[in-house]
Amino acid sequence: MAQSKKKWTTPPAARHVIRALEDAGFEAWVVGGWVRDALLGMPRHDIDVTTDATWQESARVLSTAGCAVYETGTAHGTVTAVCLGEPIEVTTYRVEGTYSDHRHPDEVRFVRDVREDLARRDFTINAMAWHPERGLLDPFGGEKDLESRVIRAVGDPQKRFEEDALRIMRAVRFALRLGFEVEQGTQAALRRQAASVADVASERVGKELDAIVRMGKAGRALLDQPEVMCAALPELAMAYGFDQRSVYHIYDVYEHIAHVCNAVQAFTAGLAGPELQWAALLHDVAKPVTYSEDVEGHGHFFGHPLQGAQMAVDIMRRLAIPSEIVDETSALIRWHDDRIPATPRAIRRLLARFSRVSPGREVPLAYELLDLCRADAVSKCPSAAPWASALDDYTRLVRQEAQREPVLATRQLAVNGADVMRVCGMAPGPGVGMQLEMLLNAVMAGELPNERETLLAWLSA
Ligand code: ATP
Ligand code: MG
Repeated sequence: MAQSKKKWTTPPAARHVIRALEDAGFEAWVVGGWVRDALLGMPRHDIDVTTDATWQESARVLSTAGCAVYETGTAHGTVTAVCLGEPIEVTTYRVEGTYSDHRHPDEVRFVRDVREDLARRDFTINAMAWHPERGLLDPFGGEKDLESRVIRAVGDPQKRFEEDALRIMRAVRFALRLGFEVEQGTQAALRRQAASVADVASERVGKELDAIVRMGKAGRALLDQPEVMCAALPELAMAYGFDQRSVYHIYDVYEHIAHVCNAVQAFTAGLAGPELQWAALLHDVAKPVTYSEDVEGHGHFFGHPLQGAQMAVDIMRRLAIPSEIVDETSALIRWHDDRIPATPRAIRRLLARFSRVSPGREVPLAYELLDLCRADAVSKCPSAAPWASALDDYTRLVRQEAQREPVLATRQLAVNGADVMRVCGMAPGPGVGMQLEMLLNAVMAGELPNERETLLAWLSA
């Protein structure tokens, strides 16, 4: 590595950790993602240090050197040293034993040579070590692969994916994040072994998928790596090549989904929240299971938004996606195909629905629904595309209603349950809530003002 080329310096905290370990007679390097990103000119990564010291030795040396040391993964030889306010993971050189279940190494073995530690890492660009004085240690050509912009497995890709099928997802994620190609041999193995992603623990798959989705790259992933995406999300495998038999669709269900994901990115200039990105990916997931044909042979998908909303909950729970995202995604899917009238009243009703799902988030969710509908419209057929601009009327209405701070939930009414019970002489129970709902509907419809005296008079009438 020509040190003259480098545009970054080793962070002081990493220098301190390496110096402390080496002064005590051990060897230490910065390794993995930080080195990769630094060589790319983006040294903004968590710092991992690898060393021949055992974790007990690292803990002793680094506490003496003034770091706070936490035992964050001692079974794998890892401690975290907080140095100059920065957490640094320090791990003993190790290799992993066999992976009889494609998921977890059966054992972790500590080794003496950093090169062995680098050899167990997944891709050449992740298998480099950096030392402030000794420079770059790059036994597998990671730096060259960074320059050629390729993701290449360290060693035999087939063997490496057999050991841990999650690497298949990681290859896809790194390729998309960095805009790299997967090297031919690695890509061939990835395609051949894609099905084994199904053996990986779902939450590990979920973490990779979530990262891909949040990067706004789900559409690209679907188009570039269908085998992998269908293994990661078996529900989408049914959509692959599924002919919609509809004059409104020029794409099959799977291609349509990919286009919607990409169009959401375009309409939101890359600022879509994760719930919208997930909704784009899963909005039509129930199409294959709700398909029916009429006598003329046209395809229909009655009930697919509701069923899709339910399937999305199951899928996202399985993948351990945070529940607040799941609920919002599910609501967006539920209402993505509703043709609501372009009236203030209908918009208030929409806002009220979202307010029930995510109190206080109804306005951003309404805008996100409109972006999802726009993306959906431009991904059907040319004659459906103008609907995308017709939706601007709805955007204006949402803005108008949002400025009025409308009453959308019973808790915003000027009267509460205690008032209902007192005025109507009711005991606690569902009837109280029903009265409040009736009042809410009347206020939302503009039939009653949200004024305490008026509402009390209505209750006592
Ligand atoms: P990110 O920016 O996504 O965190 P990263 O390279 O730091 O990228 P991590 O998952 O944090 O990725 O892992 C740190 C390092 O550990 C990787 O750079 C790689 O060398 C190694 N590694 C992680 N997971 C695996 C795996 N499943 N198989 C082999 N090596 C792995
Ligand atoms: Mg990392």
